[in-house]
Amino acid sequence: MCGIVGYIGGKEALPVLLNGLKRLEYRGYDSAGIALFGPAGLTVHKSKGRIRELEEKISAEKLPGMVGIGHTRWATHGEPSDINSHPQTDAEGRVAVVHNGIIENYGRLKEWLISKGLIFKSETDTEVVANLINFYYKDDILSAVREAVKRLEGSYALGIIAAGESDRIIAVRRESPLVVGLGKGENLIASDVPALLEYTREVYYLEDGEIAVLYRDHAEVYNGEGQAIEKEVSLIQWDAAAAEKGGFEHFMLKEIHEQPRALTDTLRARIRTNTDGASINLEEIGFNESWTRENSGRVVITACGTAWHAGVIGKYAFEHYAGIPVDVDTASEFRYRNPVFDPKDIFIVISQSGETADTLAAMRLAKQGGARIIAITNVVGSTLAREADLVMYTWAGPEIAVASTKAFTTQLACLYLIALKFGVLRGRIQKADMAKYIEALEAIPAQAETILSGKTNIQRFASLQFNKNKVFFMGRLFDYAACLESALKLKEISYAHSEAFAAGEIKHGPIALVDTSTLIVALCTQSSLFDKMESSITQVKARGAAVAVITWEDCKRFDRIADEVFRIPKTEDGFSPILSVIPAQLFAYYCSVLRGLDPDKPRNLAKSVTVE
Ligand code: GLU
Repeated sequence: MCGIVGYIGGKEALPVLLNGLKRLEYRGYDSAGIALFGPAGLTVHKSKGRIRELEEKISAEKLPGMVGIGHTRWATHGEPSDINSHPQTDAEGRVAVVHNGIIENYGRLKEWLISKGLIFKSETDTEVVANLINFYYKDDILSAVREAVKRLEGSYALGIIAAGESDRIIAVRRESPLVVGLGKGENLIASDVPALLEYTREVYYLEDGEIAVLYRDHAEVYNGEGQAIEKEVSLIQWDAAAAEKGGFEHFMLKEIHEQPRALTDTLRARIRTNTDGASINLEEIGFNESWTRENSGRVVITACGTAWHAGVIGKYAFEHYAGIPVDVDTASEFRYRNPVFDPKDIFIVISQSGETADTLAAMRLAKQGGARIIAITNVVGSTLAREADLVMYTWAGPEIAVASTKAFTTQLACLYLIALKFGVLRGRIQKADMAKYIEALEAIPAQAETILSGKTNIQRFASLQFNKNKVFFMGRLFDYAACLESALKLKEISYAHSEAFAAGEIKHGPIALVDTSTLIVALCTQSSLFDKMESSITQVKARGAAVAVITWEDCKRFDRIADEVFRIPKTEDGFSPILSVIPAQLFAYYCSVLRGLDPDKPRNLAKSVTVE
């Protein structure tokens, strides 16, 4: 949830660390800090707030040094403050630690360390780690770290430097991501790739329990048993510009505009056209066709937040196209229920980062129950990707804005591909229908582009409505599922109170909230239910609400009753969420900007929720 960077090499470390931290600020940003080896030995500089506040604080000082670690924090233990910021040091100032995650047994360890006479300055769990390492630190920091991590419970990615050993940085991971960047005469660590791209494209993804030791000219990796191991070097394909804003005012707007490209990448490689017609090819994910033939059981989909909304749409898609019963639940509920598994279940987990703590826990539970796991994620080498039986990558590229956009629509693309494949394998979809569906999927990227080219309509509408504090999205079937995500986008970045309702439920309670201050956005793409939507719209209009409708380009029937109509290009009714969510993303974005907020960094939220 926070960002870790570390540098050892021939350059001044400070600018490399600050630069890296800025690339990681999306992961958490309530405070920041660095530790450096300079002529004065090991020094630590930290500040509450964003990186630029840290920069201002140290701007007057010269901080030379070619080895250092840095951190941006999203607090879990102790409020955001200078003292609680990382790096945390032990009581003697010999060991400096940056940490991502939560040490679950920190209370017991702290008591034990206090009983040994140690005094603590911060409220963090991380300070316990620094003191524990120092407790074991005689003259070899690597063995001290090995001893200390044996006693840690919970999740952590750690970057560690120690006085007297200015020639190396130690990095450890357990249930929290950490990447080693391999440069020429320099090596780096980071919790995510964007912080490394300027320096190298060659990385090691550390696995749970592994310890990396970075020297200026090489890096060593050890497994949990302390044996040196040969790691495979992964080559990052993203170009540096892909991790930048690319000329847009915000990452979110850039990422909304990247959807046609991301959807093309995600769909195209999995669609095969030959003389036999068009088909979906899931060989690349290692999909075993017998899974569906034998599977008379269920599909279970589990995820959090936006990815869960993708899962709800997935449920409708699997039922509609493949005729398979589907359970869908938020991972945080799923993991604490007593879910019943059948070995024939296919369990689909979805997470942009592949590091979402609740989703990982749900997946592990399903695995124990014997289910077969398919992960849908955006991050190659993420924990979810490594632990699932099969992985389908969304290929959306790095998503920096906290509010997810292109990750969501590409998750939908993956779900549709799998659902259609299941439909074929289960004999529910015939050749002619498949050709029609594939044609529709292939048209989606260009249709998304068409919606984006009309964005000024949404901007104009937002300029009239951005101050509305009660915004309800309503729809039926696939539209209802798309409403869940539309309402979340708006609340995440504009802080307007927005909710999603199944249109048929409105009169069972929510209509009591509707008055002249309410904006209703009605998603109307399910042609068989247009009459029902019309009557729901009439009911909320009668209570004084303003109504905007999102519908097909050729549909005129809502013009009469809606205050505003947004038209989107026609696709299969079942595929509509991929397109209908785009106007809602843009509306949320413009409302946020018009309210003077930063849509990329909404309050209280972080990009990857790697703790509960
Ligand atoms: N648990 C640590 C803290 O509260 C690290 C939080 C983080 O991941 O940023 O300081």
